[in-house]
Parts: sequence; C-alpha cells; structure tokens
Amino acid sequence: MYSIDLSGKVGLVMGVTNQRSLAWSIAQPLTRAGASLVYSYQGERLRPSLEKLTEGEAASLIACDVTDDAQLDDLFAAIEAEHGHLDFVVHALAYAPATTFARPFHHVTREDWRIAMDVSAYSLVAVTHRAARLMPQGGSIVTLSYLAAERVVPHYNMMGVAKAALEASVRYLAYDLGPSNVRVNAISAGPVRTVAARSISGFGDMFSEGGSQSMMKRNITAEEVGRAAFAVLIPEFGGGVTGETIYVDAGFNAIGMFIPPGYPDQRDEPG
Ligand code: NAP
Repeated sequence: MYSIDLSGKVGLVMGVTNQRSLAWSIAQPLTRAGASLVYSYQGERLRPSLEKLTEGEAASLIACDVTDDAQLDDLFAAIEAEHGHLDFVVHALAYAPATTFARPFHHVTREDWRIAMDVSAYSLVAVTHRAARLMPQGGSIVTLSYLAAERVVPHYNMMGVAKAALEASVRYLAYDLGPSNVRVNAISAGPVRTVAARSISGFGDMFSEGGSQSMMKRNITAEEVGRAAFAVLIPEFGGGVTGETIYVDAGFNAIGMFIPPGYPDQRDEPG
C-alpha cells in the first residue's frame, strides 16, 4: 500500500460552497494525507457554513472574490504570512450570468462574455501568477473543466466558451511554469449535482442521459473527481503530468455516437 504523507505541505482550495462542491471532494484526500489547507470563498455569506464544514480541521478561511485583484493580493499575502510557501492550488470556481444558460448562445452580450471569462478563465491566470511566487520548490495547480469546452453541449453556451479559454490557459501556464517545476492541469469532470450545476437549465436530463450513455453506463461521483485531482496534484503520482485536460467522466468524452434505444449493444453478447 502506497502511503502519502503531506504534513508540512500547504494547499489553497478555492470554490467550496458546501459538502457537494467539487472543491470539497478534492480537499478531502489532501486533508486525510495531512496537508494544511487554506480555503478561500467568494463572500462573507459563505463563512458560517464553511466554518461548520471545516470544524476540527486546522484550516484557515479567507474571503476572496476572484474578480478583485486587491482581494487576490490580500489572499496570497495572508498565505505567505501564515505559511511562507504554497504547494497546491485547487481552482474550482466558475460563473456566467443565468441568462447565458437560458437563451441561445448568439444572445450573449459583451458584459455576459466579460463576466464569464473573468471569473471562469482569467481567474486561473491571476491565481497561478500569484501562487507560483510562493512555490520556489515547485508545486501543482488543478482547475475544473467540462466537455463543453470542446464540443457543443446545449444550454452550456457561454460557459463552454469560457471553459475553452480555461483549458487553453492551462496549457500556456504549464508551458511558462514548467521549468520552475510548477505543474498546471485541468480535470474535465462529468456532471455532478452541485449548486453551480443546478443553475444550468436542463442539467437534470444531462445528468441522467450522460450517465446512461457513458462507456461505464453511469455517472461519476464527486469522490472520484477528488481522488483523480489528488493523484494529479501530488508529485508522487502526477509528477510528470502538466498542461493536460484529464477526463473523469466514465469515458463519455470518447464516445462518437449517442446509442438510440433498441440499438444492439455488442457488449451484451456472450464471449
Ligand atoms: P459549486 O459548489 O457551486 O462551486 C462553484 C464555486 O464558484 C462556488 O463556491 C462559488 O461561490 C464560486 N465562485 C463563483 N464566482 C466566484 C467569484 N467571483 N469569486 C470566488 N468564487 C466564486 O459547484 P461545482 O460544480 O463544485 O463547481 C466547481 C467547478 O467545477 C466549476 O469550475 C465548474 O464549472 C466545474 N465543473 C462542474 C461540474 C459539475 O457537473 N458540477 C462538471 C465539470 C466541471 P458562491 O457559492 O459564493 O457563488
């Protein structure tokens, strides 16, 4: 059995709203392995529930709206003051105005575009730029993406475009920081019922259809995303992986055809 001890390692986890958040499922194996975690959250509204969630953990909670450079500067200054360095960053946040999910893509306004790109894609660049300074021995950064970055997923619209920018940013950041041993990757997760997911119209159908049409004929779990991200984050497993988008979607992304009802499934045939 491989045992991982992350005591003395420091991670920043961005984007926990509740115990269903993908950021929370990634934080769990890091905490179990002994890492010290700093959780950042968008606004004071979330602090009481985060305090409850992290009760008993030696974690710090720091407010940071990623659209505000001053709040980002304060977050990293606080991490530097408390820990002196950083080993991991979990960037698990995104936002696009609700109207962008509800109307066809060509209705996107300049302001919708700006907001979605700022929160969902530029924030990774802003965070990585500041985090890398605290990673003199190297480190690892993971963000969360979705298949709509490269294929049309109806209703996802503007967020799909923002995820495309996010995945391209992962590659450029990984290139810039590769010589400094700072790795940057994206996990492209299949649908998981979270607050952000529920804001996408049609998510329920996407969840049930996507699950039944995946290679494994099921949806993935948040815990599976957490363990995959953990493997990518820690150098013992993911040390050679950077600039990648790694799918945790039960194989959905690699299927070329939606299987119509009644279509013969050769996998059901004996031997
Ligand atoms: P979630 O629990 O709702 O997390 C999204 C987080 O983004 C929330 O904590 C939210 O804070 C935060 N956020 C939004 N705007 C922000 C800002 N300006 N500054 C700081 N934080 C901000 O949902 P989730 O599904 O776990 O989402 C995490 C990531 O996974 C997202 O990038 C999402 O696109 C991605 N993803 C999700 C799925 C899925 O099916 N769930 C699949 C693939 C990828 P508030 O609660 O304060 O708004």
